[in-house]
Amino acid sequence: MKIAIFNHHRLGIVQQDRIFDVSDAVSWDALHPQASLERLIVSFNEWKPKLELALTHSESYPLTEVKLQAPVPKPSKILAAPVNYLNHQSEMNAKFNNAPYTIEKLGLFLKAPSSIIGPGETILLPYKDRRHDHEAELAFVIGKEAKNIKAAEAAEYIFGYFALMDITVRGEEERTWRKSFDTFTPMGPWIVTSDEVNNPHDLQMELWVNEELRQNTHISEIIWDCYTCLEKASQAMTLYPGDIITTGTPEGVGPITKGDRVRIRIERIGEFSVNVDFKDDAV
Ligand code: MN
Repeated sequence: MKIAIFNHHRLGIVQQDRIFDVSDAVSWDALHPQASLERLIVSFNEWKPKLELALTHSESYPLTEVKLQAPVPKPSKILAAPVNYLNHQSEMNAKFNNAPYTIEKLGLFLKAPSSIIGPGETILLPYKDRRHDHEAELAFVIGKEAKNIKAAEAAEYIFGYFALMDITVRGEEERTWRKSFDTFTPMGPWIVTSDEVNNPHDLQMELWVNEELRQNTHISEIIWDCYTCLEKASQAMTLYPGDIITTGTPEGVGPITKGDRVRIRIERIGEFSVNVDFKDDAV
């Protein structure tokens, strides 16, 4: 099932090129979309037949006529994997000449949930004279509370998957700081539930800046796969339904600037674009 949030935080189910407004079927509260989403996630098996029934009589719209929003609007945390593809690891170590980066050394880091934006919105760059990069990533949302979960059991804790851009200012500050500016976490276009994704490591991921293909990788090249990321994260902190883990970016990371349009696509999940501009008070 493809679960979307659209038009002032309505709940939608996407089928082919249409979106069905199923808000009323699950007592969705558009004023509290994250709480409503978490309620839906934890009781999904119970709600699923109601959603399927709702599809037979709910109002629907062409996808082109609605405004999609971030599918997970306000998680309690976003955990992110640094240097989680071998080719990106070489790229980072060559370009930035730091002590060797590896995910085993670095572990996961936090991004501020307030940095989330949805499809069609605009990344606002805070600096005119520093390099800002795009990072294409496969992300997932936690389905049930997870603490000390082994990778072998991790799949049942993942509710669904979506595409995420981990926007970054290069520099010396802490990663969390450089990746947490408002608008630095575009995500979308919707959550695809785990049963529809099947194997999350058997997906092709691409990112374009304007018409230029910058990143193009099969997720199987990942170092800590989705399940290992969940295992490592849940050893350190309790993961709650609605939390996000984003699994890191492959090679091809590059700069973005005012006027660019950035598009990400992940096989079986979908695609979305965002614009790039300077923040009003960019320095
Ligand atoms: Mn990243």
